[in-house]
Amino acid sequence: MSHELQNLGADIHTLRANNPGLMTGAGTQSYLIGHRQLLLVDPGPDLPEQSGRLLAAVDALQAQVCGIVLTHLHRDHAAAAAQLQAQTHAPIYAMPAHPEDGLQVQGLDIRRLQDGDDIACDRGSLRVIHTPGHVDNHCCFWWPSSGDLLTGDHLITGSTVVIIPPYGHMGRYMQSLQRLLDLPLRRLLPGHGAAMSEALAIVAATLRHRRDREAKVRAALQQQAQELTALLPRVYDDVAVHLHPIAALSLQAHLIHLQEQGQACATASGWRLTASSR
Ligand SMILES: [Zn+2]
Repeated sequence: MSHELQNLGADIHTLRANNPGLMTGAGTQSYLIGHRQLLLVDPGPDLPEQSGRLLAAVDALQAQVCGIVLTHLHRDHAAAAAQLQAQTHAPIYAMPAHPEDGLQVQGLDIRRLQDGDDIACDRGSLRVIHTPGHVDNHCCFWWPSSGDLLTGDHLITGSTVVIIPPYGHMGRYMQSLQRLLDLPLRRLLPGHGAAMSEALAIVAATLRHRRDREAKVRAALQQQAQELTALLPRVYDDVAVHLHPIAALSLQAHLIHLQEQGQACATASGWRLTASSR
């Protein structure tokens, strides 16, 4: 079975799933970390060939899976986890999703992660960095020996990530970006797209982009109260129209963030700025 494994340096390999799309870019990247005893990060979607391709890749490395590690439980990252667990008998490490979040895989037999945990393979440990925002239970994983950060859907290549309330949260997303700026990061290994060097510059640019977008929301609210559908084409005038249904979700997240900061409120005639922030 073909596996098209890509080497990204000592003890780091990646494999892309065959699930390209609007939300997944070229497809979900799974990562294999270690030498003979591997951590499999984000086994990917529920496709018939997915677990076979991953296990063929593990065989090609003459290795075994000692742990299945999940950045979060959205189906494109986590749906293949149960089958891989059945085939490898490796434990699954993740933070559980909110029980009512229907977009995330529920019912997995997981070992619950906490911020700061270390997950060991035969060449070191991945450090758990809790990064709520895309969803509240999202984690990034830091591999200190190379300065790589596996970013899941916290940062992806060539696009911003969607924040879907209520389990996604813009304020916490921005705080989680800010927190990464304190780590000695060299490269980002995203859940979608190619590896990104200049890691800290990208984190800073992403944070700036969110602040700029939020400033645009505030400016658009300056004139009068408006429904989200009226705000959308003004705030996202730089984004292709076919992406607006996705942008609407992040716009909702920005409005909630402004509301939490006391800058905006929802009224019968739509969103408006609060008196104190006008
Ligand atoms: Zn996701």
